[in-house]
Amino acid sequence: MIDPFGRHISYLRVSVTDRCDFRCVYCMSEDMTFLPKSDVLTLEELDRLCTAFIAKGVRKLRLTGGEPLVRRDIMTLINGLGRHLLSGALDELTLTTNGSQLARYARDLVGAGIKRINVSVDTLDPAKFTRITRWGKLDQVLGGLQAAKEAGLRIKINTVALRGVNDDETFELIDWCGREGFDLTFIETMPLGEVDVARVDNYMPLSLLKARIGQRHDMRESDHATGGPARYVTLAETGQRLGFITPMTHNFCESCNRVRVTCTGMLYMCLGQEDSADLRAALRADADNVALNDAIDEAIGRKPKGHDFVIDRRRERPAVSRHMSVTGG
Ligand code: SAM
Ligand code: SF4
Repeated sequence: MIDPFGRHISYLRVSVTDRCDFRCVYCMSEDMTFLPKSDVLTLEELDRLCTAFIAKGVRKLRLTGGEPLVRRDIMTLINGLGRHLLSGALDELTLTTNGSQLARYARDLVGAGIKRINVSVDTLDPAKFTRITRWGKLDQVLGGLQAAKEAGLRIKINTVALRGVNDDETFELIDWCGREGFDLTFIETMPLGEVDVARVDNYMPLSLLKARIGQRHDMRESDHATGGPARYVTLAETGQRLGFITPMTHNFCESCNRVRVTCTGMLYMCLGQEDSADLRAALRADADNVALNDAIDEAIGRKPKGHDFVIDRRRERPAVSRHMSVTGG
């Protein structure tokens, strides 16, 4: 799959559910309305969809959400998709999770062929953790991380940088990840979906954070790449790797190799644009994937050049109306 700007599309992110056991303040409102269950693709349909993309050249598949591990029988899908790793059709199957269910699933994930996962942790302070996630318990996530580590999963921590909330913990988070052997990536908040807070209050450009880290550590630019949007540095003292995802301050669109599918089968060619293609209708049109393959080709043919996010006081409305939990992180 090659888009109009010559970019090879080899990375698919699939949101397997828009539901979640947390309500992170920057991601969701407290009384979220979720998609009707009847609109959500079945696990068989999700498998068919992923398999069609793999046949078209997707080499890396990330399951996300909402919280992927709260979807009922999720291991049926994950175990099934593991066959593409065994056949060599897929280089990597991975997962973004809030970690709450990892104690239960870590060993099964390894059994399915998953080697590394991203886990979102914004703070190491239990009270603050519950303030940010509203419903989350830090202990449960730390327990899940230990289980994942013991099961042999490589772990990358994702931290959304929030001014006035967790910017006092930058070095604590870096040191913790260093001790635990986790990679760490900071993310800028993006204006996706209405939430109850004004994102501008907590928006923190990562250029600022990076400069602050540079005052304490000898940071070296790294050419490490995982096929995702993060840019990496290593800390010369320890070799520890830090990533920065900067959708706001530095557009990463020129090297974008990704598309995203929601749990209802909407294909979004760009996280920051409204244009989409309805793959559910195409999936259900015939059993041979003829309509599905056509719909995918047609959609890739209109992948936009990029997005342009702005968070400031003049522009209070989100750039796109759907929440990150719908499109998947
Ligand atoms: N529930 C899982 C989790 O939290 O890791 C997977 C889905 S979540 C939507 C994926 C990632 O998106 C998380 O790291 C989360 O912190 C991040 N995220 C959610 N809303 C965001 C926003 N408005 N801007 C930037 N990142 C956001
Ligand atoms: Fe749930 Fe992840 Fe969104 Fe938090 S960021 S509410 S854990 S989907």
